[in-house]
Amino acid sequence: MNDFLKQAEELFPYTQSLRRDFHMYPELGFREVRTGGIVAKELEALGIEVTKGVGKTGVVGLIEGAKPGPTLLLRFDMDALPITEDTGAEYTSQSAGVMHACGHDGHTAIGLTVARMLHSQRDELAGNIKLCFQPSEEGLNGEEMGGNLMMMRDGVLDGPKVDKTLSLHLWNDKPLGWINVAKGPVMAGAELFIIKLTGKGGHGAAPETTIDPIVAAAQVITALQTIASRNVAPLKSSVISVTSIHAGTTFNVIPQTAELTGTIRTFDPTVRKMVLERFEQIVRGIAETMGCKVELEIKRVTPPVINNDEVSESVLRTAQTLFPQTDVETEPYITMGAEDMGFMQEKVDGCYFMVGSANDEKNLNYNHHHPKFDFDEQALITGAALMASAAVDLLKT
Ligand SMILES: [Zn+2]
Ligand SMILES: [Zn+2]
Repeated sequence: MNDFLKQAEELFPYTQSLRRDFHMYPELGFREVRTGGIVAKELEALGIEVTKGVGKTGVVGLIEGAKPGPTLLLRFDMDALPITEDTGAEYTSQSAGVMHACGHDGHTAIGLTVARMLHSQRDELAGNIKLCFQPSEEGLNGEEMGGNLMMMRDGVLDGPKVDKTLSLHLWNDKPLGWINVAKGPVMAGAELFIIKLTGKGGHGAAPETTIDPIVAAAQVITALQTIASRNVAPLKSSVISVTSIHAGTTFNVIPQTAELTGTIRTFDPTVRKMVLERFEQIVRGIAETMGCKVELEIKRVTPPVINNDEVSESVLRTAQTLFPQTDVETEPYITMGAEDMGFMQEKVDGCYFMVGSANDEKNLNYNHHHPKFDFDEQALITGAALMASAAVDLLKT
């Protein structure tokens, strides 16, 4: 019987000092050289086999269990944000304009603590643990893809082939003690779109000689709103927002083109598929009816994060056993925020769970990405204990 909660409590000084060190020296996406270096050094010191440079600055450690079994990937993101810290903490950022304002410093420290605990249990493990320290979760940072996709491109899911994934986020919108292990969709998928309508420009007083792309654009915008209101079932969710419209230069000229951009957010893959189909039908149909040519680009930013029922059920049982006093929440924690773990969970069954980290009494309750963001470090114990226990329990199922 492993007592990972007790071990995580004993290891807390280690976890906390790592977290504070990462916090003082934050690095933006794909620049986690120092952070990744410390991760690799710590893993190697334990005797864990390490692969560097997976997805540029990503680091992968492999713990091979003594007994055969599946391979479980645990994902921890390492990147910081371009924000100037305003917490006044003693461990405040020493890098001007860069800050760990999402808690990924905590995730990296949790990952190394979990590595320590699971490595000490390797003789008992039936299967492998792949520790995946991911760069650039927050964005592309000038690359053509983010950290999750880039690690996949570099083969993180192979050799040995990954069977299941676990990942977590410290969550400052909820207090310390709150835990969420949901089945199904937990974070929205996001698309961006660009619609370019080309008509025929001309004199504003002679519309009959033109094909007006502004009138067509107006119809497109209005008709797109019927997808959420008339096509998506009322109890399902979707968002279509046209967030920019550019056309024309002056009052008496009908322009040649109109360009619209915006975003589409959905949770449910079948809703997403239908929304994208209707989107294209409406845009192309109206353009054609109005006599305009259309160029349509829909680009996937991130897929939704969708938890596998069986993996989540296993994590839920672990959480309930580990924290019997806690009422573990199981409703999907719906947020329209995006998370690139959705890419991995598209390929491999996984569970993404959340660990409450706010503490009103200590004023540690600012939202993620706020210059005053900081969390209660006790949440590191919760996160590490739950991740290690969930991993071991999942290998048994
Ligand atoms: Zn973030
Ligand atoms: Zn984050």
